[in-house]
Amino acid sequence: MTLADDLLARNRAYAQQSFRGSRPVRPARALAIVACMDSRMDMFAMLGLEQGDAHVLRNAGGVVTDDVIRSLAISQRILDTRGIVLVHHTDCGMQKITDDSFRDELEADTGLRPSFAIESFRDPYEHVRQSITRLHHSPFLARKDEIVGFVYDVETGLLNLVS
Ligand code: ZN
Repeated sequence: MTLADDLLARNRAYAQQSFRGSRPVRPARALAIVACMDSRMDMFAMLGLEQGDAHVLRNAGGVVTDDVIRSLAISQRILDTRGIVLVHHTDCGMQKITDDSFRDELEADTGLRPSFAIESFRDPYEHVRQSITRLHHSPFLARKDEIVGFVYDVETGLLNLVS
């Protein structure tokens, strides 16, 4: 079975068993979540959310990049979200590299040094704080009064609030 066949079969089962029906385009809980791409985090399940409740923006590390700001600006200004939720986690792959080491690795492998920032980090709590600061400094976000950050513990399934 090809990858596409496998995924289409899984999707048909989902559509029959789990799909909750059409929902409005505006997130019902007016939330936008920025999270790491880590495969162990099922964002809606771990936050008790349902389909249609929130936008979810994910990348390696849950970094607040220009493209995340772009999506948040659209989320807030076009689709009326208010709250921004940052979710980082323990045992992140971004803690296992440094910017220089990963740049060196890419350059050695491809002959090209990437122009993009790697944005590795050591402490997920400190990285959440830096990300919150980056959000507050953006001129493009309309609403900044409900920004919260968490670190998800991949061993327990529990969120820790970052203060
Ligand atoms: Zn991660």
